[in-house]
Amino acid sequence: MIRVYNTMNKKIEELVPLKPNEISMYVCGPTVYNYIHIGNARPAIFFDTVRRYFEYRGYKVTYVQNFTDVDDKMIARANQEGVSLKEIAHKYINAYFEDTKKVNLKEEGMIRPRATEHIGDMIRIIQSLIDGGYAYEVNGDVYFEVEKDKDDYGCLSGQNIENLKAGARIEVNDIKRSPVDFALWKKAKEGEPSWDSPWGKGRPGWHIECSAMSSKYLGDTFDIHGGGQDLIFPHHENEIAQSRCSSHGEYARYWMHNGYINVNGEKMSKSLGNFFLLREVLEHYEGRVIRFFVLSAHYRKPIDFSDAELTQSKAGLERIDNAVLRIKEKLSEKSSEDGDDLKGLASYLEETKEKFIAAMDEDFNTAQGIGAIFELVKEVNKYADTEKVSEEGMKNLAAAETYIRYIMEEVLGVLLKNDENIGNLTSELVEFILELRREARAEKNWALSDKIRDRLGEMGIKIKDGKDKTTWSL
Ligand SMILES: [Zn+2]
Repeated sequence: MIRVYNTMNKKIEELVPLKPNEISMYVCGPTVYNYIHIGNARPAIFFDTVRRYFEYRGYKVTYVQNFTDVDDKMIARANQEGVSLKEIAHKYINAYFEDTKKVNLKEEGMIRPRATEHIGDMIRIIQSLIDGGYAYEVNGDVYFEVEKDKDDYGCLSGQNIENLKAGARIEVNDIKRSPVDFALWKKAKEGEPSWDSPWGKGRPGWHIECSAMSSKYLGDTFDIHGGGQDLIFPHHENEIAQSRCSSHGEYARYWMHNGYINVNGEKMSKSLGNFFLLREVLEHYEGRVIRFFVLSAHYRKPIDFSDAELTQSKAGLERIDNAVLRIKEKLSEKSSEDGDDLKGLASYLEETKEKFIAAMDEDFNTAQGIGAIFELVKEVNKYADTEKVSEEGMKNLAAAETYIRYIMEEVLGVLLKNDENIGNLTSELVEFILELRREARAEKNWALSDKIRDRLGEMGIKIKDGKDKTTWSL
């Protein structure tokens, strides 16, 4: 039985999916006006792990994460770079995939809709809200009238309409009926990208896009809605209001929110200027170390981002790498008839399997799950020293290796060092040596260029100089 902390009810409860053995989940994705920062990477990594874990437990998962490719920041960035909105989106969506590939997000089977491809779906929901008396149009803008949803508004965030009204800034020339009403559709300003609608040219508000894209791919009611804690209010609260008033049914059934990332004890934020781009961090740490770092803490707790923490994650991950390599070494030895069966390891492995599932079933406690793997690694190191190991013992060692690798790579998505990684390193080194040879040739240093070719040849690496490229083979 999997249990999750549901932000809606503020408690951990049993997760009962709409359809047995199937999970539908929607997670708010990034606004693609810049490279993603480590704060965007946390939900991407965590919810990818949630998906993987459900699959490990036998569920079929439909996972949707959107790209917000139209909003004020996008338009400002397009103007600043002197290109179209489309070009900005294209550039930063590509960059997103480039960066997140390195933290091993599972793209296979994922649905990644873009807001601008669903404007028609948004217009339909907005129209149904106007028809139902929940929204109104003023001069080409359309607003959701929060007062019309007063029985339910605030259910997720605990906000109260009267307090919100008291705290709201009233803008001069405000055309809204109440300061707490929010935009569903914004009339186009001069020079802005816009779409035709029953209320004239304009573009959608931010909240409506997630309501439209989640219902399009998952239906009006679905299992899990996720995102960072900073999205609880107003974004998710407004999504709920729009969706429920439009469909007259339940929206997401479980709301999961990940905690903040702190830098030196302060919340990481753009306004404080203390944020790090994922690609900057990737220059110093491998993607797998960053992913392991994110999963080493409970997802609802804040995590401290620092070199010390990342270095610690790196060391921890290497302990797991080394244990797996030690098993491999041992497995290459011959078993002996009077050797040890390593029964202790076999029973510890069974215990670990149960501990890992217990930790993850209880609100995706990756920290505790990883703790169970570390305990197993300790045992492995103990048994890997056994001098004589029987055939049975070898099987038990192999089972431990297979399990550790499977949990780390497939379930947690954290790749371990293995022979293929070393293979990658070799090819990178050869490429690097060829680059140096190209430089030597450019400087007409033929002696050095030939020396490199000959030495590589002695190592069994054949190189072939083509018209504009040198290729190599083993
Ligand atoms: Zn959203």
